Amino acid sequence: MANALFDALFAPLAARQDDFLILPDGAGLSGAAFLAMVSRQAHALRAAGLGVGDRIAVQAAKSPEALASYGAAVALGAIYLPLNTAYTAEEVAYFLDNATPRIFLCETARRAALEPLANRHGARVMTLDADGGGTLSEAAADQPTTLTPADRGADDLAALLYTSGTTGRSKGAMLTHGNLLSNAEVLAGLWRFTDRDVLLHALPIFHTHGLFVASNISLLTGGRMIFLPGFDLDAMIRLLPRATAMMGVPTFYTRLLDDPRFTGELVRHMRLFISGSAPLLTETHRSFEARTGHRILERYGMTETNMNTSNPYEGERRAGTVGLPLPGVKLRIMAEGAEVRPGETGVIEVHGPNVFKGYWQMPEKTREDLREDGWFITGDVGRADGDGYITIVGRARDLVISGGFNIYPKEVELLLDEQPGVLESAVIGVPHPDFGEAVFAVLVPEKGATLDPEATLAALRDRLARFKLPKAAVVVEALPRNAMGKVQKNLLRNSYRNWFGA
Ligand code: AMP
Repeated sequence: MANALFDALFAPLAARQDDFLILPDGAGLSGAAFLAMVSRQAHALRAAGLGVGDRIAVQAAKSPEALASYGAAVALGAIYLPLNTAYTAEEVAYFLDNATPRIFLCETARRAALEPLANRHGARVMTLDADGGGTLSEAAADQPTTLTPADRGADDLAALLYTSGTTGRSKGAMLTHGNLLSNAEVLAGLWRFTDRDVLLHALPIFHTHGLFVASNISLLTGGRMIFLPGFDLDAMIRLLPRATAMMGVPTFYTRLLDDPRFTGELVRHMRLFISGSAPLLTETHRSFEARTGHRILERYGMTETNMNTSNPYEGERRAGTVGLPLPGVKLRIMAEGAEVRPGETGVIEVHGPNVFKGYWQMPEKTREDLREDGWFITGDVGRADGDGYITIVGRARDLVISGGFNIYPKEVELLLDEQPGVLESAVIGVPHPDFGEAVFAVLVPEKGATLDPEATLAALRDRLARFKLPKAAVVVEALPRNAMGKVQKNLLRNSYRNWFGA
């Protein structure tokens, strides 16, 4: 046995004297130097007790060293568990308790608060700071720059990625070496990545999008990454001319479009813009094309499955859709136990080498969502058009049931978004004394526009069945979003839950 994931992603860096990472100040880090960092960290982590099958939880700012800790975990056959840097001590306690990692890597500034917690859960603390300093790098400094990776097969676990948990406790999705490698291979081929690509990487690396989709593809194809600690508009504008491709969440694109320095000229040379993790408004797709001539390629995936669908590289990229199932991935849309016809709406299920092994230590949750024959019930509601392009309508749990009728929020949102002065909207269900739930709209005005919520709702009267019409609307400056740009409807539902006094 060997370690196919390490051999495909990391081992080839040994031969690379060119810059694998380009940092915001323009400095570069060669592939060989990065691999040496991975190796030194792996030796230091092994000396600290991390072995095959052990978990390493990492809550650290994005840096080359933080990315190297992922490589070190793969090399050691350990299970990598990245955590959102925004999580509080209380939230971290849950992950430490649930995953019982051997090592917990955090920033020095948080050590005092988190170490007693970690120790209580049997984890040893090491530190890694945004500048690469900390006890891990100290312990790694004198370690060997080469290593023999642990034997791991396709079915062995590589990562525990926790879902964002907007409705309940977050669940640890068990992802195997085979899940990660197969998805990276398919996407790299589909999106035509090569060693000539320079990927502008401004996504966090605690999430599947930045860690697996972006970094794995670049590693696999021998490309380079402009590695930014986060989304910084000035840095993006400055560095886009050096990139050939960019991956982003929809808010990256709207923020770029809001800046007059973002011109067609600036990105004429670019090969590809990819969007995912949250719905890209058709309006954003169109404005982006009008400004730059590029059609953003939208794809759809999730923590549990890596990527599932993508618009084509060549062929039509259809705005408002997430494209077609990836090669090797089967997708079906189900309602009442049967597959629906094109145009009909139902819950999306997927099957393929990308689909995770289940939720860590949650056999019941696993049984609820992952069928015995391998089909995963995504919880996303969608439909396919006649050509097989998939449109995501929303999450099943966001479905509003008012007076016994089902309302898909997206249908109402799309109409609201078309109204004059409306930039975007979120439709939710809130408790109502008569209807059980009432449809409720949260509207964001376009810059400089004043919205009359009543008039906006009135404009929908002839276009929507009565039961779908929002019973009330409010105007807010912006919708609450998480780090990946997803609208946090749970927060909205909470804010307006007493609106009708139910
Ligand atoms: P996460 O597990 O944090 O990656 O979130 C996955 C969820 O994000 C999916 O189940 C979808 O609800 C949503 N999502 C991801 N990509 C898209 C997309 N392109 N359009 C609409 N929703 C998306």
